[in-house]
Amino acid sequence: MTRPVFVTGASGFIARHILLSLLRAGHAVRGSVRSVAKAEDVRASLARHLGRDPEGLAFCLLDLTRDAGWSEAMAGCGALVHTASPVPLEQPDTPETLVLPAVDGTTRALDAAARAGIARVVLTSSVAAISGQKAGAVARFTTTDWTDPNLPGLSPYALSKTLAERAAWQRAEALGLKLTTINPSFVFGPALDADTGASLGVIQRLLTARDPAVPRVSFFVVDVRDVADLHLAALTDDTTAGQRIIAASQQIWLREIAAELRAAHPGHPVPRLPAPDWLVRLLARREPALRWITPSLGRVVTFDTAPCRALLGREMIPARQAVRDGAASLIAHGLA
Ligand code: NDP
Repeated sequence: MTRPVFVTGASGFIARHILLSLLRAGHAVRGSVRSVAKAEDVRASLARHLGRDPEGLAFCLLDLTRDAGWSEAMAGCGALVHTASPVPLEQPDTPETLVLPAVDGTTRALDAAARAGIARVVLTSSVAAISGQKAGAVARFTTTDWTDPNLPGLSPYALSKTLAERAAWQRAEALGLKLTTINPSFVFGPALDADTGASLGVIQRLLTARDPAVPRVSFFVVDVRDVADLHLAALTDDTTAGQRIIAASQQIWLREIAAELRAAHPGHPVPRLPAPDWLVRLLARREPALRWITPSLGRVVTFDTAPCRALLGREMIPARQAVRDGAASLIAHGLA
């Protein structure tokens, strides 16, 4: 691709890896950020990882909630990768806090792409837009599944991702855009720098013994480096247009993550004790962060990973390595 790839939310944990993959593959990149300071931080971080000045990298300032700048931002670009969306450390009381930027921002991004003559769009959605259905009804999900936005107890984040992806498909059809969505499961793996977003919060909580015991929950994990390469692979493979690609590697229990961390970092106070389900439910009455995991206690949710394995064209990074490398990066950046 000779024209730059436009990447929204270039300061994000995943987007920094997407930028690195794009630059390594020889693409020019224009990234949107919310402040000049973030642009400088991303540039410095990428320079460290590339071992050279990131030529072909430019930035512009955009906010998902404001019109300013969107009309001209993508002029001259050849494709859009839309990653920006609020990813909270804790769920807000009002879903609109997440839903409005996610949905309006997606509409703004796709409209701006169409105005700039961009036809190819890759959107970072989530399995949160796929697997939010009646608990226990389905345990294995494919790309034909959709989260029910009216499901009682659905988290504001899952609602925001579901409505944003729905909006993207509708907008893409109306505007004649070739859209692929990458729907990652829980993303671990190394942060490129100290700006880790919310994604490594689970590992950080364990390494710092934020909770005294380990709830009986499992995660379907994918490494951030695989997520980045899947965005790049989708972008350069037009046969993926019109498809949702679940980016997911392996299921792992939180107690297995804790054991992995204890083995790799014996100096850290990683909790050992299992937290009984009744205790988690009791504590969830006072601790909002626990409220959102109670429906997942003991539940194993799996995904069809065959399409993403085929698209990636190489072995996916195992969940345990994603955990280890995520932890090592937190420790290296002084965050755990
Ligand atoms: P981060 O929080 O690290 O990145 C989010 C990005 O969105 C940041 O660049 C942030 O900017 C930007 N952003 C948020 N709100 C706005 C706004 N109002 N205007 C402009 N930019 C905004 O999260 P991740 O990297 O983890 O997530 C990136 C994408 O991947 C998201 O769409 C997320 O839903 C999706 N995803 C993530 C998963 C995970 O486990 N991490 C799993 C599945 C999907 P700023 O730096 O200024 O805050």
